[in-house]
Amino acid sequence: MSDDLNELYQQVILDHSRSPRNFRKMDAANRTAQGHNPLCGDNVSLYLLMDGDVVRDVSFQGSGCAISKASASILTEAIKGKSRSDVKALFDRVHEMVTTGRNSSADLGKLAVFAGVHKFPARVKCAILPWHAAMSAVEGKNETVSTETEDM
Ligand code: ZN
Repeated sequence: MSDDLNELYQQVILDHSRSPRNFRKMDAANRTAQGHNPLCGDNVSLYLLMDGDVVRDVSFQGSGCAISKASASILTEAIKGKSRSDVKALFDRVHEMVTTGRNSSADLGKLAVFAGVHKFPARVKCAILPWHAAMSAVEGKNETVSTETEDM
């Protein structure tokens, strides 16, 4: 990866952490999940409006570092309109990318900005936290996921 690309990726992460998209509580949500990363102090609440198997709308609230906020913000854009199985497939690819740096598909879009996170093991949990919460929400578990109690 060139330095220019790194620079671009950092800009995207900063932009999404400073002005997170879909950053609101959703009263109409029929699925919610909380994510907690005690190592960094990240907290995220995800709100999903599921129509059968499809994510009709998604929003989040929370506090934490730039990586966790940007990850949650980009996640809301990435999973809107997706089916439960699409979200699961996306989770698997994002998980692989942030833990190994490998991006096995060219169509991850903005999510690719997190490929560099694998070089910073402490930050991997920040990036993947919103995704664990999203999986919990689409599966209807409505539970709190913590990076310290699950095998992440
Ligand atoms: Zn964090």
